[in-house]
Amino acid sequence: MRYVDEFRDAQLGQALAAEILAAADPGRPLKLMEICGGHTHSIYKYSLGDLLPASVELVHGPGCPVCVIPMGRVDDGIALARTDGLIFTCFGDMLRVPGSEQTLLDAKAQGADVRMVYSPLDALAIARNNPDREVVFFAIGFETTAPSTALTLRRAKAEGMANFTCMCNHVTIVPPLRALLESPDLRLDGFVGPGHVCTIVGTRLFEFIPADYGRPIVISGFEPLDILQSILMLVRQRQDGRCEVENQYTRVVPRDGNPRALEVMAEVFELRPHFEWRGLGSIPHSALGLSEAYREFDAEQRFDVPGVSVADPKACQCGEVLKGVIKPWECRVFGTACTPEHAIGTCMVSPEGACAAYYNYGRLAAPKQAV
Ligand code: SF4
Repeated sequence: MRYVDEFRDAQLGQALAAEILAAADPGRPLKLMEICGGHTHSIYKYSLGDLLPASVELVHGPGCPVCVIPMGRVDDGIALARTDGLIFTCFGDMLRVPGSEQTLLDAKAQGADVRMVYSPLDALAIARNNPDREVVFFAIGFETTAPSTALTLRRAKAEGMANFTCMCNHVTIVPPLRALLESPDLRLDGFVGPGHVCTIVGTRLFEFIPADYGRPIVISGFEPLDILQSILMLVRQRQDGRCEVENQYTRVVPRDGNPRALEVMAEVFELRPHFEWRGLGSIPHSALGLSEAYREFDAEQRFDVPGVSVADPKACQCGEVLKGVIKPWECRVFGTACTPEHAIGTCMVSPEGACAAYYNYGRLAAPKQAV
């Protein structure tokens, strides 16, 4: 398949691994964070870590949109879903995310009208087909998915839809990265940057990482050769004494992003003063709410949403996994009390979660062997 098969060529992968081995300094360990959960899954699906020298370590970052939704927001969603006559719509990966007592799937089993959709436009179509019922779309995602929510709301406004609202949980990637870079818990030497987010926001947004924190970042695609090439580019920056933003994913990511997507986001959203992230706490200006012009479509304004704040379960170490402080298998409940069938934390149920990647690809505990 064009644009897929050529990025999964095993021989080219071996050649890139050999170049990384030749360029890496065995005496100077390099700890790299892949920000995006999509990268984490590719890394474990294709066992890319096994191709790297012992001096290059990959740790996993906070870029999984489902993983960072706190329990309180799930509880709020469940409370909304139980409203009489209301149709609650969300992406499928939200259905099994644990709230404090239940999941949305449990609420559905008990009679709430919870429906899985593939896009916000599907939710709008449900509203169109059910004019006598309120329809809420539970929006999640980083800048990658926010434009589709924004375009849907623009269309809802143009059509004068009175029975469609959005519970907005869109988050932005820069504030948690700044929080990580300022955290004393973690020493990172560079980043594999979020290719999908950058299709919208461009690479320019990440120039603060080398400028303010002296760390390099390479914006990366998601196929195995993309990721290996990005790691090689980071190793080469270290070798050459450079520290900059580089773009490996040039076939998709322009430096200034997608201006039309940014324009509709600016029209529909505004930054929330604070937002609670699972395991990371409250981070200022890290999430999007609906702008004044779209307030009538805000489910949190139209309905009585409890707005609960719930502490993560004591056994849950999702926060440390999302900050790259521990590997999933180091969590004390990984694979025992917490499995994809009975998850305690979000990182185990999300298709982009690091714990799900380790569990699904059999990386239960893997100390690294020297290559
Ligand atoms: S194993 Fe479960 S509780 Fe532990 S970090 Fe992963 S998802 Fe969270």
